[in-house]
Order: sequence, then structure tokens, then C-alpha cells
Amino acid sequence: MNLGILGKKAIVCASSKGLGFGCAIALANAGVNLTMCARNKEVLELASDKIKKTGVQVNAVSCDITTSDGIEKVLEVMPNPDILINNAGGPPPGSWEDWTKDDFQSAIQANMLTPINLIQRVLPGMIKNKWGRIVNITSGAVKAPIPALGLSNTARAGLTGFVAGVSRQVASDGVCINNVLPGVHDTDRIKVFDETMAKNLNISIEEARRKKAMSIPAGRYGDSEGFGNTCAFLCSEHAGFIIGQNIVVDGGAMNITI
Ligand code: NAP
Repeated sequence: MNLGILGKKAIVCASSKGLGFGCAIALANAGVNLTMCARNKEVLELASDKIKKTGVQVNAVSCDITTSDGIEKVLEVMPNPDILINNAGGPPPGSWEDWTKDDFQSAIQANMLTPINLIQRVLPGMIKNKWGRIVNITSGAVKAPIPALGLSNTARAGLTGFVAGVSRQVASDGVCINNVLPGVHDTDRIKVFDETMAKNLNISIEEARRKKAMSIPAGRYGDSEGFGNTCAFLCSEHAGFIIGQNIVVDGGAMNITI
């Protein structure tokens, strides 16, 4: 399918690996020029070299996107993107009695205030151009909260609330803002959870992965490529009537009707 976004410009946050990288390569395959970012410069450069092979222009900005400095660096390179993919690392798992005010503040900074700030900064340009697409990578935990991920549940609920309002306010300007909610995808982040599960159940990592895959109706983990293609579709010309949605990509794991 021709996504109709050839030559557009996108900022893809936290994109040297995992779901962010999946989004970056899917947009590049549609002819979108990119600004990518991540903290580790070497890994980011390897990722951007891979994407440059598609023929698009790629800026690789090594920064922590959850800081004001990181946000400024990215916007300096691409001040008026047509497309913004918001993403950052997720907070660590834990338990309610251990989380401190600082833990909540870092989670809220990374997974709520940073994407909100970026949305506020890019919206005026998109509204002026009467075209824009914003996709926030959140989590299935927004609809089905995971107790051990309370920091993530809290911060992402705030972002989801903000997006629900603003997406409707800018829809008539040709700007579509949506959230994509991943279930279990085979990335480095999930490897850490698999290791913990194996340790807790005293089984091998392979057995833990098999068990987890069998608990998903699709019988497998998702992959970054499929996830990225879903996001790219939401950034396409064809997605102009999809506004303020929370789209679950989880192989059917969440047994809900809405
Ligand atoms: P991942 O495989 O660990 O990749 C994370 C990417 O983000 C890396 O490129 C990393 O590079 C970059 N990054 C992390 N923190 C950053 C920061 N502060 N500034 C700039 N770049 C940063 O993680 P993932 O699985 O793709 O997860 C992406 C998001 O989806 C997370 O918020 C996660 O909680 C959420 N999620 C994932 C799943 C899943 O199954 N994978 C499920 C639900 C929700 P550097 O480390 O070099 O910065």
C-alpha cells in the first residue's frame, strides 16, 4: 500500500532499538526523512546507517529525550516535523510500597511530560500546514493496568488523558493524534522481564518465553517490524479519520471488547 507520505519529515524518539526502531524503518520505507534519537551514540549510529540504506535522509541525535536539553537538540535539527512518534524507555517494575516521589517524578517526566511537551512544540507547525500525524507509543497497561508497572500505569494514564482532549481540538486542522498500546513484543526491554519470570518460576528463559507466548491468543510475541508498520499506517494519508484512539497491538492478549 502506498502510504502517501513520501518526502514528509518525522521525529522518531527513542529509536535506535526496539519499537522505536521498528517505527523509524517503517516510515523510512514509506519515503519519510527522519530525525532519530537515543542516548547511546554508537548504537544510534548503527541504526541510522541501516535506515539510510532505504535512501531517506536521517539525522541521528544522541541525547536523553526526557530532558529539556534533549528535546531542544532534537527540535533544533527538525523544528517543524510533519510526523512525531513519541517514545522513551519504560519505568522499572516494582511494588507500590517502595515507590518514592522521585520514582514517580522520573516516570512522569519520561512517559507523560516529555511527550506532552513535544506535542505542544510541534502542533503549531502542523496546524499551520493543515497536516500532521502524532503517534504516542504507550502500553497495553493503559487499558489493563499491570500491578508491577504502577509507575508506567500512572504516567501513561496522564498522557492518555491529555491526548484524548487535544486530539479532538486539532482534528479539524488535519492533525491526527493517536496512541498505540503494545502488548508483549520481542525487544530488549521484554528480555529483562523474561529473565525475571524465569528466575521467579525457577525455569529456563526459553521455558518462560514459551509459557508467555502460549498465554497470547496469537501464540507468539509481537515484533518491532509489525508494530512499526501499524504506526506508519497511522501516520499515512489513509489514517486522516482516526482521531484520539488507543490502538492495542497485543496478539489478542487483552480480553476486552473496547
Ligand atoms: P527497548 O527495546 O529497550 O528500546 C528502547 C529504545 O529507546 C532504545 O533505542 C533506547 O536507546 C531508547 N531510549 C530509552 N530511553 C531513552 C531516553 N531517555 N532518551 C532517548 N532514547 C531513549 O524498549 P522497547 O521494548 O522498544 O519499548 C519502548 C517503549 O514501549 C517503552 O516505553 C516500553 O515501556 C513500552 N512498551 C514496550 C512493550 C514491549 O513488549 N516491548 C510493551 C509495552 C510497552 P538508549 O538506551 O541508547 O537511549
